[in-house]
Amino acid sequence: MNRAALGIDLGGTNIKVGIVTEQGELLHEAKVATESWQGPDALLAKLAGIASESVPLAGTLGVRLDGVGIGTAGQVHRASGQVLGATATLPGWAGMPLGAKIREETGLPVAVDNDVNMIALGEAWHGAGREWADFLCIALGTGVGGCWIADRSVYGGRDGYAGEFGHGIIHMDGKLCSCGNKGCWEAYASVTALQSLARERGMQEQQLSPEELFRSARANDMEALEVVDRYCGYIAAGLTGLVHTFNPAAIVLGGAIVAGQGDFLLDKVRSALEHSVMPAFRSPEPIRLVAAELGGHAGVIGAAMAALKTAE
Ligand SMILES: [Zn+2]
Repeated sequence: MNRAALGIDLGGTNIKVGIVTEQGELLHEAKVATESWQGPDALLAKLAGIASESVPLAGTLGVRLDGVGIGTAGQVHRASGQVLGATATLPGWAGMPLGAKIREETGLPVAVDNDVNMIALGEAWHGAGREWADFLCIALGTGVGGCWIADRSVYGGRDGYAGEFGHGIIHMDGKLCSCGNKGCWEAYASVTALQSLARERGMQEQQLSPEELFRSARANDMEALEVVDRYCGYIAAGLTGLVHTFNPAAIVLGGAIVAGQGDFLLDKVRSALEHSVMPAFRSPEPIRLVAAELGGHAGVIGAAMAALKTAE
């Protein structure tokens, strides 16, 4: 029987699950509501139920489940699979022994990691990063997440928490960040930050959605263009520090805004980087800046790949 794993992408609104083969083929995918308001114990029971139902389901698809991978918001202690830092979208989730519970329920090896790390792994194995063994992956969303992929694996640091690039301070005493510090990159480069940038410029509420802002900027509306240029400059400001830290061959940028705006956004970030990155880091080969490819499936595919690697 072919090897496969169950990948689970746990978000504040939905839980995405998929059975993925070793070759990255998504055989079965489903989505259920997280309903985090029911509390962490109910959520843990729900995940355990999904995992145990998937074992016989895999059999009907002609594959054998060799492991379960779970990407969750917050910080994860990788060795134990325990969630240590929770976010507002999953109240009470901190402290949950997620890995141990799912292992007990299914008898399978379990890999648990931060959701952005799982997305990066998906892109590394079967998406935009597959050309490179080492690259930088950044997700621009409500927050700014990131990951350094080294030798097709997530670089985790001592406990697995590395890669919180969004909380690098780019402006001392700057804007207030969701983490409580001031001046974090996330407070400037998240999609939420883009909207507040437009609001500060006095733009009307109906003009503030990212789609609308970019549509106006593409149509050469001066006000929107200034906001978008400024925003892309902030993205590049954070990337500049990371390029000088990691000397990457490539940067994979993900998140709905990149998927929607494609080259218009990437070109602006690229040209800002041309000015801010020291020449040796971008020659003789330029740093490749590319959009993520797997979209909403990346988290499920990456979690499954992490599980297969754990089971090896
Ligand atoms: Zn922060």
